[in-house]
Amino acid sequence: MPTFCDVALAVPLDMAFTYAVPPGMEPVVGGRVLVPFRQQRMSGIVVELHDRPPKVKTKKVIEALDLSPVLDEQLLKLGKWIADYYLAPVGEVFRTMLPLSAEFKRAITYRITDEGQMALHLAGMSGSPARSRRTPDEQLVEFRVLDYLAERESVREERLRGATRVSRALLAGMVRKKWIAREDVSAARDAARTVKVAVLASAETSPPPDGRVARPHIGSDAGAPGVPARPDGLHTQQETGEGARRSTKPKKLNENQRTLLDTLAAAGGKVPVEALRGVEVPRTTLSTLVKRGMIELIDEPQDFAMSKIKPRRSPFEFEFNPAQKEALATILEGVSSRKFTGMLLHGVTGSGKTAVYLAGMREVLEQGRSSILLVPEIGLTPALAADLHQAFSDEVAILHSGLTDAERAEQWHRIKRGEARVVVGTRSAVFAPVSDLALLIVDEEQDSSYKQEETPRYHARDVAVMRAKMAGAVAVLGSATPSLESYYNTKKNKYALVELPDRVEQRPLPEVEILDMRQEFQETGHEQVISRKLAEEIRDRLEKKEQVMVLLNRRGYSPVALCRACGKTLQCKNCAVSMTHHKREHKMECHYCGYVAHIPDKCALCGSEYVYFVGTGSEKLEELLHGMFPQARIGRLDRDTVRGREDFERALNALNEGELDMLVGTQMIAKGHDVHGVTLVGVVGADIALGLPDFRAAERTFQLLTQVAGRAGRGQSPGKVVLQTYFPDHYAVQFAARHDFAGFYDKELQFRSWMHYPPYSAIANVLIRSEKLDDALTWSGELGRWFERTRHEGIRVLGPAAAPILRLKRDYRYHFILKSPSREKMNTLLRAMLAEAAARKIPRTQIIVDVDAVWLM
Ligand SMILES: [Zn+2]
Ligand SMILES: [Zn+2]
Repeated sequence: MPTFCDVALAVPLDMAFTYAVPPGMEPVVGGRVLVPFRQQRMSGIVVELHDRPPKVKTKKVIEALDLSPVLDEQLLKLGKWIADYYLAPVGEVFRTMLPLSAEFKRAITYRITDEGQMALHLAGMSGSPARSRRTPDEQLVEFRVLDYLAERESVREERLRGATRVSRALLAGMVRKKWIAREDVSAARDAARTVKVAVLASAETSPPPDGRVARPHIGSDAGAPGVPARPDGLHTQQETGEGARRSTKPKKLNENQRTLLDTLAAAGGKVPVEALRGVEVPRTTLSTLVKRGMIELIDEPQDFAMSKIKPRRSPFEFEFNPAQKEALATILEGVSSRKFTGMLLHGVTGSGKTAVYLAGMREVLEQGRSSILLVPEIGLTPALAADLHQAFSDEVAILHSGLTDAERAEQWHRIKRGEARVVVGTRSAVFAPVSDLALLIVDEEQDSSYKQEETPRYHARDVAVMRAKMAGAVAVLGSATPSLESYYNTKKNKYALVELPDRVEQRPLPEVEILDMRQEFQETGHEQVISRKLAEEIRDRLEKKEQVMVLLNRRGYSPVALCRACGKTLQCKNCAVSMTHHKREHKMECHYCGYVAHIPDKCALCGSEYVYFVGTGSEKLEELLHGMFPQARIGRLDRDTVRGREDFERALNALNEGELDMLVGTQMIAKGHDVHGVTLVGVVGADIALGLPDFRAAERTFQLLTQVAGRAGRGQSPGKVVLQTYFPDHYAVQFAARHDFAGFYDKELQFRSWMHYPPYSAIANVLIRSEKLDDALTWSGELGRWFERTRHEGIRVLGPAAAPILRLKRDYRYHFILKSPSREKMNTLLRAMLAEAAARKIPRTQIIVDVDAVWLM
């Protein structure tokens, strides 16, 4: 066994740490170990085992937690790639990849130090503690603590405080004096966690899956008065012999007993005891049946909590059009080649991409290989989950943000053991530990939720492509509105472009009418939220009993509270942004940090009472439409009305069931499922983004307009879109109205090329932040001068400049933007910058390096 191991720990340091391996311990590369780090114990991933003694004295590994790797060779390699590409500490990358935090109980413990022993010793000699400013009472408690700890190895905080009645403050003081040491113990939970499972004592009904269950000896057990009877009334095989004779006179089951047995049988004969608690029978019923030998209790690994009931496999009949067939054939050809194949599946809205994904995944599953489907945060609805269960029964693992840590860990283990070879989930599902990965699909690949906005700041789409490359798998990026980056890659022949140009059943794309709101203002003399034309179209649809969607991509009632006397707006106390008025909840809210304040009755600056709420958000839009169409049933879909996936689904269902005439909302409504009755989509202020200082504004606007327009006319009747805008001539608006994807991409690529933006240059956004304005200014100034001195060829450095949102969540923010056609050069410079910052003692946590930033605000 090698004598040293290098361990990646989840700390903000770009390095691995070397520890000595005690004799007899056998850590594995890719497995977890428990190690001492500073004042704590931490678990980390072993990245290398070796015999090279380091220059400094090493500490010993406390415990090897895994006998086999939790990160296989490929995932280790992928993690290292992410650390390198996104300049993130490798330990933090691994922590993101492994959803196993639930397996570690966190506990604070204390132990006495040598200094503490000494203090205790001296106190014993002199008979009284040394003089100090502490009260005699406090000193007494301190020595009680030392006394208590001196007799023990280490003690949990709760126990110590219970036994000695010491305050937290006093404990902290003792830690500062180094009399005691505080440890953050992450003890691995018992690996063999089990649950009690009730099994129907009829071996033929449900053979134990693992063979560990002892066959119940019911018939021969003289002590057992009862007879095994299957709840469906059939007799079991024990009817032969003595048992059979007895069964001619079965002891009658009471109703509770029958209910419990029925439940158990319906679930396939095996259910965790915990789950049986939901059955409304007295607790004694179960124990009676156990005593009578009709139910047996066994221990199963904890992950048995997943139901083992196998639903019938769906027939899976897709009627594919030629384009879908071709797309599927291309995917499967790539799969059988076992070589990396990158593919952009560009299908217009409503063209049936999901059916192609599912067919591809099913084929992969039938070959005994694995697939992963990534969906955006809002894309994983309960309806999709139901479809997936129907299609893949229990071979699918679904990972979403609603899972608890324990549930996430449980899914992870199922995947790792090969029980679930189809994985569907949001961003981090890209790290699912499947083996023999054949197909990795990223649905709506342009969606910004694939980018993680905290360390490590990876983009799941790009990680997916890299993982597919390492695995020799097929990567399918699907979208109705592909990102510029992916589209450009097809032009460079990096990805194959497969198009689904038609909607299913040849439904036409909706007609889009652009409505110039500047002209509307001139003609009506005041600012309109709903133009006369849109109002007329809505009235028409309501009369025909057809449905309407109206998009306004801004939540709340009014985005600005303005004082008419002094002209100031109400700003968040943490951020340099206006607070939004929420009328129904009667509050002002900051949409960036969540800070909430009272609705002002007068101006905080000048005391004037003339505070006006200006502008319109989705809440006010709903109110306006109620006023205009009092008969209509109107629903709203935005982050204030949707708290979870169920709310989202409920609103869409209501629309589908015809319980709503109109749905109003933010971009959430643009991403819904098929809603067949919608024939009109009104777009109100979807061009807000065009005014933002972000080079992706045009791309985002084009995508949003195209997606929301795609909601219209998915049923029998053709759809129409009324697009209200103050930028009627902007190319993003023009091309979206014509459904001209290629036209938009060509124009936008030209602009990106001139401005040296992606995909022609790699970019990084470097933010310097501090709660103190002086620090933020000083540090960014120092780094700015350093960038100037070290001028690097082929890299443009813009800044330092105030970030578009100068203050956010209490931090003042200055930033640099780096652009370079060479990613390698850019990352080299960024690393040198971080080294310089460290030398200047600028805290690493105050510098955010965002490679391939999607958000520059
Ligand atoms: Zn004022
Ligand atoms: Zn704020």
